[in-house]
Amino acid sequence: MVKPRHTPVMVKEVVGALDVRSGGLYIDCTVGEGGHGAGIRAAADPAPGLLGLDVDEEALATARRRLGGGATLVRGSYRELKRLAETNGFMPADGVLLDLGLSSLQLESGARGFSFMRPGPLDMRFDRSQELTAHRIVNGYGEEDLANMLYRLGEERKSRRIARAIVRARPIDDTAELAEVVRRSMGRQPRRRTHPATRTFQAIRMETNGELEAIEQGVLGAIEVLRPGGRLAVISYHSLEDRLVKRLLARESPRVRPVNRRVIKPERSEVEANPRSRSAKLRAAERI
Ligand code: SAH
Repeated sequence: MVKPRHTPVMVKEVVGALDVRSGGLYIDCTVGEGGHGAGIRAAADPAPGLLGLDVDEEALATARRRLGGGATLVRGSYRELKRLAETNGFMPADGVLLDLGLSSLQLESGARGFSFMRPGPLDMRFDRSQELTAHRIVNGYGEEDLANMLYRLGEERKSRRIARAIVRARPIDDTAELAEVVRRSMGRQPRRRTHPATRTFQAIRMETNGELEAIEQGVLGAIEVLRPGGRLAVISYHSLEDRLVKRLLARESPRVRPVNRRVIKPERSEVEANPRSRSAKLRAAERI
């Protein structure tokens, strides 16, 4: 058994929000290495049905070993949730989970190009069969488009300055080079807690994978596949994701109602044990 690299976030809270029961059908749209999937299966005896989706073949391979034959694991995007739920016999579903962002498996692999801390190619695709890569964006977009992307998807206030530096430094071939170009363009920044390229990398990743559009399609798809009384749980990791989820759930309010009055955050002990959970926010809604 390959040891999973990724520690799932707020498993207990997710299981509670989805109200997991025996005989139920649950869809983990971002099954990754199967951490939440295993938690959902273990939450009731006999274990409920689980459909796990992911676009990343590498992650699915681990999920397959971990969840064994007890779950249906499919390579596919939650953008097509309704079709995938139908063809796999998971409609109507009792619960749907979206755990946004990326896994530690992906972040820690230099070859995937997600991290400014690990040298690697500018890739950043969740789905490695897709054509658009971070390299194409960094080396091909015009300065204005780059600046707008950094501002919109990274909420980067120095978007223009960084875009100019990127265009001047091209061609840029790897993550380390890009991180250095961004760092130099920002000048000295005392008392800064995060790496100066954090927002730039976030923006390029979101652009590469069309993440905001995917989230909207995933949330709307989830509402369609849930039975009345079924639950949707979404974990987000930064403000752009969380604001979008909040807005979508509010907009769809005649069809869904919030399960909790406030957004759920990990307990202090979890954040201490798994710092990556620090920024996580869980929102849950019930289909009406
Ligand atoms: N909950 C998982 C970790 C999820 S990390 C666990 O416990 O292991 C987020 C996962 O979502 C990644 O594996 C990523 O490949 C996947 N992903 C990103 N966009 C996707 C999409 N559009 N459809 C399906 N999976 C996606």
